[in-house]
Amino acid sequence: MMKQNKLINFRKEILNNFKCQKSGNCCKCPGTVYVNKEDKLNISKDLNISLTEFNQKYIYQDNGWDCISTSRFRPRCFLNESNNCSVYQSRPKSCKTYPNWESIWESEDSLNNEIAQCPGLKLAVKKYQDINQKKSNNKNF
Ligand code: SF4
Ligand code: SF4
Repeated sequence: MMKQNKLINFRKEILNNFKCQKSGNCCKCPGTVYVNKEDKLNISKDLNISLTEFNQKYIYQDNGWDCISTSRFRPRCFLNESNNCSVYQSRPKSCKTYPNWESIWESEDSLNNEIAQCPGLKLAVKKYQDINQKKSNNKNF
C-alpha cells in the first residue's frame, strides 16, 4: 500500500464515521483499565456509594496505579449481561476516547489489529472507503 493511502493518515475522516456497535469487545479483551481521581469520583457518584467504599470494592492497585479492571481482577469490568457498560455515563476518559488512542493510530498494523476486534471501527473504515469510492467514480464520469 502506498504511504499516502495508509488508513492511519485518515484518522479524522474515519473517526467522523465511527459509531459504537455495542459488541462489548473492547471491555472484554484482556487489558487494564486505569482510573484517575476524577474517574473514581464520577463512577462512585454514579453508583451512589462513597469514594472509600468504591476504593474498597472496585479498585486494584497496579504498581501504584488505580485500576478498575485487569485480566485477573474483575475482567469484565462494569460490563453487564446485555454487553452494556453499567457506568456508561461516568466511564473513564480512556473508555470515552476509544478508539481515538495514539497507540491504535501509530501504525497500520496496530490499527488493523483494532479493526479486527472493534465492529464500530471496521464499519467506520468501510463507510470512509465507500464515500471515497463514490467520489472517485463521480470524478471519472
Ligand atoms: S469494540 Fe467497538 S463496537 Fe464494540 S463496544 Fe467497543 S467501541 Fe463499541
Ligand atoms: S468502564 Fe465500562 S466502558 Fe470502560 S472498560 Fe469498563 S465496562 Fe467497558
